[in-house]
Amino acid sequence: MIDKKEIGDILSDYDEDNLTIGVLCSHSALQLVHGAKREGFRTLGICLKERERAYKSFPLASPDEFLILSDFSEILKLEHQRRMREENTVILPHGSFVEYVGPRNLVDRFRVPMFGNRASLEWEGDRGKQREWLKKAGVRVPKLYERPSKIDGKVFVKFAGAKGGRGFFVADSKASFEEGLEKRIEDGKISRQDAEKANIQEFVPGVRYYPHYFYSLLDDRGAKVRGGAIELLGMDRRIEPIDESYRGLPNVPSEFFDYTVTGNEPLVIREKLLVDLIRMATGVVETSKELFPPGIIGPFCLETIYHPERGFTVFEISGRIVAGTNLYPEGSPYSPYLFEEPMSTGRRIAREIKDGVKKGRLGEILY
Ligand code: AMP
Repeated sequence: MIDKKEIGDILSDYDEDNLTIGVLCSHSALQLVHGAKREGFRTLGICLKERERAYKSFPLASPDEFLILSDFSEILKLEHQRRMREENTVILPHGSFVEYVGPRNLVDRFRVPMFGNRASLEWEGDRGKQREWLKKAGVRVPKLYERPSKIDGKVFVKFAGAKGGRGFFVADSKASFEEGLEKRIEDGKISRQDAEKANIQEFVPGVRYYPHYFYSLLDDRGAKVRGGAIELLGMDRRIEPIDESYRGLPNVPSEFFDYTVTGNEPLVIREKLLVDLIRMATGVVETSKELFPPGIIGPFCLETIYHPERGFTVFEISGRIVAGTNLYPEGSPYSPYLFEEPMSTGRRIAREIKDGVKKGRLGEILY
């Protein structure tokens, strides 16, 4: 793993007054570039040729310069890494960046400073570690079934990696679990390898909320925790074909039983539940400081299911910007209570980098 000191040495050669914000053209790139531009940064889009036109179609969110690749993994080529360093580039990682380049490659081979804590990749990329983190943080997580023979109720079956819910299904016995796996292998939705590592969780009933947080080391306007403050910048809900299954009533076609994320919609939560959202985030941030010092930095999201009787269950954590924040380029129903100006998560990241430069603390928020 590239250690923090090495990135610190690279940063010491940077001209901090002339930083470039680098974004992979996917996921939340429009929002990130838009926000960086609003904060006055030069921007670099790492882009595939076939996407360049689309990213140039939104001038206020279009990168000033492009680095065109034929495959995103080419970003690891030394000449490209050198160019980025020469241009004082800080990369803003997002889910697709991690997925396309690979967490291992980022940790071992990518020598360009990134916003946030690189060490968090290991913790959020591994379901077992995530679970340990969440449990330590004192939040409720779905019960886990070690073996299919233990299934004693409705379960939710998941597969590794950020596949966006593809192939996930519901079962209620060992037999229906095995049948579900076979069908998905036949349909080419999952591989045998995926099937062997299937994750069997308790099916959690309730309403899903995806709160978008930002943990700042440099600004204490949010919920105070040791060493920083947590801002709740917004919230969304993911939409999946299963959400529209009622449209197929009374004989719902099986294609509706699909949990692949296809978009996001905005929502607000009953106000008193904000108490729980802040409590859970505080636990997660404080625990992260113990597990992978200095802990999580910048944007993160808890993927939760709320039920009036059971309270919140957190089934996943994203330690980076989530695509649901794309709903709020001008701010969300919550951000006006924190900032006087329109504040997206993308802009918030750029603001933190700007504050880091101003306060001489850039090294603390990049790795
Ligand atoms: P994920 O890829 O983990 O975000 O999951 C994709 C979707 O699967 C979520 O948006 C939920 O609709 C659903 N889901 C995940 N875990 C559970 C669970 N334990 N119980 C019920 N639904 C779940």
